[in-house]
Amino acid sequence: MKKFAIAVDGPAGSGKSTVAKAVAKRLGIIYVDTGAMYRGVAYFCIQQGVSPLDEAGVLSLLKDIKMEIQPTSDGQRIFLDGEDITSKIRTQKIGQGASQVATIQTVRQKLGDMQRDMAKNNSVIMDGRDIGNFVLPQAEVKIYMDASVEERARRRMGELATKGEKPVFEVICEEIIRRDENDMNRLYNPLRQGKDAVYLDTTAMAIDDVVETIIRITEEKIGEV
Ligand code: C5P
Repeated sequence: MKKFAIAVDGPAGSGKSTVAKAVAKRLGIIYVDTGAMYRGVAYFCIQQGVSPLDEAGVLSLLKDIKMEIQPTSDGQRIFLDGEDITSKIRTQKIGQGASQVATIQTVRQKLGDMQRDMAKNNSVIMDGRDIGNFVLPQAEVKIYMDASVEERARRRMGELATKGEKPVFEVICEEIIRRDENDMNRLYNPLRQGKDAVYLDTTAMAIDDVVETIIRITEEKIGEV
């Protein structure tokens, strides 16, 4: 099979990770969740008592981070100093912290290099904010996934509820809007739909339909996988 890459970008809660994981399984390729890496950096900083907003503090910790990404048949696991932190990073607080460390250019360069490395010898579907425009600009398939703020908040509520959190809908909406603002307006690698990316509004789409659409687009571009 020819090596290829699918880049999936879009705002928080647009369904990227659920869909990308399913596409990876169907096509037998590796799924790379780049948001987890930014979350890993934020988790490490908070654990070490450094605010994700403290740029100098974050940079001084960056060289000490021993983060490892392990693709699995069911997605990806992330390790910090050998500890599996995959589920610990999925909180609103770490998501917000991730969005803050993600504004720092050196952080983006370091994680971008790790991400490119993972795509070097493997076919991948990689999701994030800057994959099609910056990390893998040569990706054969580029998708920009979107959904309304309310729908994205409903999805986040469901996700957090399964983890025992009891979020308030209006608060989640506000956090999503704030995160969109951070991600779309930062100086380095902001979230933007690339000219060559296919726009998918998933507000009223079932997951399976989005998965099928991406597989169809991929086969149109590179032939049967
Ligand atoms: O996708 P997820 O919600 O896990 O990402 C957390 C945060 O990490 C995002 O809000 C964004 O600020 C940052 N991020 C990024 N570039 C990526 C992936 C995530 O800036 N490629």
